[in-house]
Amino acid sequence: MLIVAVLFATVLLRFGIVLGVVYLILPATRICPQCASDLTLIRHPILRHLIPQVEHRWCLGCGWNSLVRRPRGPRSGSQSRVISRAARS
Ligand SMILES: [Zn+2]
Repeated sequence: MLIVAVLFATVLLRFGIVLGVVYLILPATRICPQCASDLTLIRHPILRHLIPQVEHRWCLGCGWNSLVRRPRGPRSGSQSRVISRAARS
C-alpha cells in the first residue's frame, strides 16, 4: 500500500510541475507580442472560475490570440468598443 501512495504522490508532483511550467511559459502582457497593439479580453466564464490567473486575449490588429497570465498592476486600458458592444448583445 505504501508503494501505491508513493507512486500516486509522484504523479501528483509531476502534474504540479507541468502546470507550473506551463503557467510560467504563458506571456504576462496586455500587448500583442507580434504587432504591439492592445489585446482584447475574451471572456470565458469557465476559465475565469477554474483558473482566474489566466486570461484568453485576442489582438484586433493581427488576429493573434492566446492564453496569457493576468498581468499585475493597474489596467492600462478598457475593453474595446466593438467587443463591449458584442458582449451586450
Ligand atoms: Zn497583434
